[in-house]
Amino acid sequence: MNAPVTRRTTCRLCGSSELELVVPITATPPGDAYVTKERLHEPQDCFPLDMYMCRACGHVQLLDVVNPNILFGHYTYFSGNSPGLVKHFEEYASAVIRKHAVPKDALVVDIGSNDGTFLRFFKQHGCRVLGIDPAENIARFASERGIETLPEFMTPELARRVRADYGPARVVSANNVFAHTDDMAGMADSVRELLADDGIFVFEVSYLMDVVDKMLLGTIFHEHLCYHTVAALQSFLRRHGLELFDVERVSIQGGSLIGAAQRIGGPRTVAPSVDALLALERERKLAEPATLKQFSAEVNRVRDEMRDLLRRLHNEGNTLAGFGAARGGTLLLYHFELGPLLKFIVDDNPEKQGMYSPGHHIPVLPTSALYEQKPEFAVILAWVHSKPIIRNHQRFLEQGGSFITCFPHMMVVDKRTTPFW
Ligand SMILES: [Zn+2]
Repeated sequence: MNAPVTRRTTCRLCGSSELELVVPITATPPGDAYVTKERLHEPQDCFPLDMYMCRACGHVQLLDVVNPNILFGHYTYFSGNSPGLVKHFEEYASAVIRKHAVPKDALVVDIGSNDGTFLRFFKQHGCRVLGIDPAENIARFASERGIETLPEFMTPELARRVRADYGPARVVSANNVFAHTDDMAGMADSVRELLADDGIFVFEVSYLMDVVDKMLLGTIFHEHLCYHTVAALQSFLRRHGLELFDVERVSIQGGSLIGAAQRIGGPRTVAPSVDALLALERERKLAEPATLKQFSAEVNRVRDEMRDLLRRLHNEGNTLAGFGAARGGTLLLYHFELGPLLKFIVDDNPEKQGMYSPGHHIPVLPTSALYEQKPEFAVILAWVHSKPIIRNHQRFLEQGGSFITCFPHMMVVDKRTTPFW
C-alpha cells in the first residue's frame, strides 16, 4: 500500500456497497501534521474527509483511507501527556476490573496501546499486560517504561502468535483504535482469536449520537474512520462471533461509548443498557441518511455564520488569533475557511510552540502571545474546551480582547459578557 490514499467501495462493517455521501467535508492535510520551520518548503497534501452512511447497516464512515505511513509515521501523540486522559483511563480501567471481576493474574492485551497508559492501571492491579502499537517510537517508549509493547499492526496472524506465546487473554481492549482501523473485520477476528472463552473485549469509541448532537467536529479526522452506533456495532460483532453485552455512555472526547463483548456463548447476560441505547438510536433515526444530512446542513449553517463574522472582523482591520493547535482545529481551518484569517495560533503545549499549522502554515506561539501581541479576537479552535480556556484567560478579556467560540453555540465573549463558564 504505497498510494497516499486509497478509497474503499464497501462498508467497513458489513461489506455492502450501498453507500451514500451524507456529510461532505472539505479536504484537509492530516489534522495533526504540524510542521517545523525546516519543513515549511515541503508541500502538504489535502485528503478527503467526506462521511458516508451504509444503507444496509447504517454505519457512518470515511471511505478514503490515508496511508498509515503518512498518518502514523510521525505520530507524536502520547496519552500520558494529557492529564485528563490519564485520569479517564484510570477510571475506565478500574471500572472494567470491578464490573467484570478481572482476576489479578489475568492477561490483558491492549490493541493500539500508545504509551501504555491504560495498561499501567491493569498492571498495578497485578495483571500481566501486553501492548500492541505500530508506532515504533511510542512502543519503544512504553516498553522502556515497563509495559511490554509489540511495535506491530494487529492482524489475526499476530493474534494467533500472541495467543501461542502468552496464552488466551482475559481482557482485550481496543480504545479509539476500534474506530481507526480500515480492516475492522480483521480487527474483530483478531480479538476473537485472542480472547479466552470467558474473556471480555472492551473498547471505547466516540459515539455518533454525540458527534451529531454536540457537533463534535474535532472528532472528525482522517485516522477516525468509523463513527459508531450500538446497532451497527452489535450486528458487526455478531458476524464475527462476538456478542455485545454491555454499553455505557461516557463524556470523554465530548461523548463516547464504552462497549463490552464476549465470544458468542460466553457466560455473561446482556445488560439492559444495550437495548436502551438501541431504542434511543431508533427513536433518533440515527441509521437514516436524512438525519446525517441534517447534521451536515447545521454544520454548514454554523460555518457560514462564523466565517462571515470573522471575515468582517478581519476586513475591519482586527487581528485574529486561533486558540488551540489541536488536531481537531484543522477541520475548522479548512472547512470553515478560517485559515487565511488567522495571524497566529496559541497553545499551552511547548511541543506545539514554534511549529506551523498543517497546510496553511500558521505559526504556533505560546499563549503569552495573547498578552504581548494583543490580538483583538481569539477564535477557540478546540470548541469543547472553551469554558476552561476562557476561565484561564480572564486577563485577555480584561485587556480588551474577545474570545469567539462555537460551543455550546456561536458567541463572542468579552469582558461585558455574562460568564457562562
Ligand atoms: Zn454496512
